[in-house]
Amino acid sequence: MPTPTPRVSVRTRRVALACLAVVTFSLVIAASIVSYQRRQPQVQRINYSQLYSLAEAGGAAALQIEGETMTVTRADGSLVEATVTGQSPQNDVIQLFRKNNVPIEFRPLQPGVLVSVMNWGLPILTLGLIALVAWRIYASLSGRGSFELTDHNGQQTVGFNDVAGVDEAKGELTETIEFLRSPAKFSRLGGRVPRGILLYGPPGTGKTLLARAAAKEAGVAFLAASGSSFQEKFAGLGAARVRHLFAKGRKLSPCIIFIDEIDALGRQRGRGGDSASADQDQTLNQLLVEMDGFDQSSAVVVIASTNRPDILDKALTRPGRFDREIAVDLADVNGREAILNVHARNLKLEEGLDLQWIARGTPGFSGAELANLMNEAAIAATRDDASAVGRKHIEIARDRILMGAERQGFMMDEDERYATAVHEAGHVAVGLAVENGDPIHKVSILPRGRALGVTQSLPERDRFMKKREYLEDQIALLLGGRAAEQILLSTMTAGASNDIERAVEIARKMVSEFGMSRLGPIHLGQSDQPISQNLLDRIEEATNELINAQLTRACAVVTAEKESIGRLVELLMERDTLDADEIASCFSNSPYVRAA
Ligand code: ADP
Ligand code: ZN
Repeated sequence: MPTPTPRVSVRTRRVALACLAVVTFSLVIAASIVSYQRRQPQVQRINYSQLYSLAEAGGAAALQIEGETMTVTRADGSLVEATVTGQSPQNDVIQLFRKNNVPIEFRPLQPGVLVSVMNWGLPILTLGLIALVAWRIYASLSGRGSFELTDHNGQQTVGFNDVAGVDEAKGELTETIEFLRSPAKFSRLGGRVPRGILLYGPPGTGKTLLARAAAKEAGVAFLAASGSSFQEKFAGLGAARVRHLFAKGRKLSPCIIFIDEIDALGRQRGRGGDSASADQDQTLNQLLVEMDGFDQSSAVVVIASTNRPDILDKALTRPGRFDREIAVDLADVNGREAILNVHARNLKLEEGLDLQWIARGTPGFSGAELANLMNEAAIAATRDDASAVGRKHIEIARDRILMGAERQGFMMDEDERYATAVHEAGHVAVGLAVENGDPIHKVSILPRGRALGVTQSLPERDRFMKKREYLEDQIALLLGGRAAEQILLSTMTAGASNDIERAVEIARKMVSEFGMSRLGPIHLGQSDQPISQNLLDRIEEATNELINAQLTRACAVVTAEKESIGRLVELLMERDTLDADEIASCFSNSPYVRAA
C-alpha cells in the first residue's frame, strides 16, 4: 500500500526523545568533569613526613582540611596536598600548624565526579524516562499517531482514471460518491446509502487505490488507518483508537475513513480465552458501536479492505455496517492492458511495443505486479541506455518478477551447476510431457533469489477453472526435478524442498478443499467445528497417495526422456538460460513429449 504523505510518526518522536535524554546525560557528565577540573589548580602531592616537616617549619599561608585530604598553601601561593588517614596523625599536624599560627579551614567533603553524576544525572535520566513513558501512554490513549489524514478535501493525487481493470467495483462506488458530494440531496429523497463498504480480493489489486480515488472523485477528505495498528500492547487502547478515528472522521465530515487489512481487527470474536483476543474483541465491538452510531446526517463513509473476507466476524457485515461487499479481483487480459496503460503513461515506449502483447504474457499478475513490471522495465531500459522501453526490457522485468533477480557474483562450481541443470531439465521434461500443464517458457540455471535454477511456465490464457488434471500435472511438474535427481544422479538434493512444499500444498488442497481424492467431497474450511484426528490422518494419507502417484509418473517421464534430458542438460551447461525454441530443439525427436 503506498503511503504518499510522509508524516512524523510516533517512532521518530520517540527516537528524538531518546536522543534528548542521551544528550542531557552527556551534558551532565561533561559539566561535572569540567567543574571537577576547575577545582583542581596545580597541586603537588607530598607524603606525611613532608607534610609534618612543613608544619614544623612554619611559614605556610593556609591549611585546608577536606576529609582525609590536607592541602597546604605555601607562602609563595603554591599548593601541596597529602592524604592523612586516622584522627590522631591529623591532630598531630593540626597542632603544629596551629602553633605556627597558620589559619586552618575545614571544608565539607566535595563529591567526586561519579558521585555528582549519580546525584544529578540519575534523577534527570529517571525523570526523562518517566516523561517518555508517560508521553507514550498519553499518545496511545488519545489514539494518536496511528492513522493518517492524507489530504483534506479531495486533494488526492489519484482519481478514477488511475485505477483500471476494476470497472465493476468503480460502478458500485458511484452511488457512494454521489452521496458524499451532496449528502443533503440523498437525505431529502430518503435513500439509504451504504455507509460501510467492504472491498475484498487478492493483494495488490487496487483496493487502497480505489478508496483513495473515490475520495478524490467525491472531493472529500480521506482518513486512512491500518487494521493492524489497532492491535495494542495495552488493553483497551485499540478500542480507544477506533473511537478517536471515528471522532476525527465525524469532525472532517464529509469524508471517507479507510481501514486497510480489516481482518487484523475484525476476526471472529470469542476465539481464545487469552487477554490479547479479549482485547481484540473489545476493539471490534467498539468498531461495531461506531458504525451503528452514525446518524443519517453525517456524511462519513467507511471503506474497509481485506483479502480474507472468510475470517471476518459475521457481525461486521450485518445491515447498517459493512453491508456492501465489492469484489476486487485480478484483472483479465483486457483489464491488464488497461492497467498497463495507466502505468505506461509516463514512459516512453518503443514503436510497436504492444501493451496487449504484455497483457497476454502476464496472466495472474495483479495491478501492483503490473505497475512493478513497467517500473522494472523502465529501469532496465535506463541501464541499457535505450531511448525507449522495448520488448527486451519487458522480458527482463518479467523474468525478474517471476523468478527473482539474478544473483550476481554467486558462483556455483561445475558439479553444482550440473546437478541444477539435471534438476531443472527434469521439470522441463515433465512439463512438456503432461497434457494439461502450462507451456514451458524458459529454463535457467542462473541462481536467482533463493533458487539455484528456474523453470518458468506461463499459462496461455487466464485460468479461472482449475481442473483436477491440471492440478495433478502441476504436482508432477513440481516433482520432475526430484525425479531427475533420483534417476539420473541417483541422489537427492535439498534444492527440491520448495518444489515439494508447493506440491504438497496443492495436493492437500485437492484432498481437503476440492474433494478430489478417494475421501470424496470433504471440505476443511474455516469451520468452527473441531476436526477429528482420524480425519486429519486420513487427509494426510490421501495427500501422500496423490503425491506419490505423481512422483511415479514424473519418474516414468524422466526415464523415457533420458536422452532428450541429456541434450537439454548439455545445452544448459553451455548457455545458462534457454528459451522455448531452444528447449524444443532438444526434445525434437522424443515420442513421449507433446510437440513443443
Ligand atoms: P491493495 O490495496 O488491493 O493491496 P493497492 O491499491 O495498494 O492494492 O495497489 C498497489 C499499487 O498497485 C497501486 O498503488 C497501483 O500503483 C498499482 N495498482 C494496483 N491495482 C491497480 C489498478 N487496478 N489499476 C492501476 N494500478 C493498480
Ligand atoms: Zn525445482
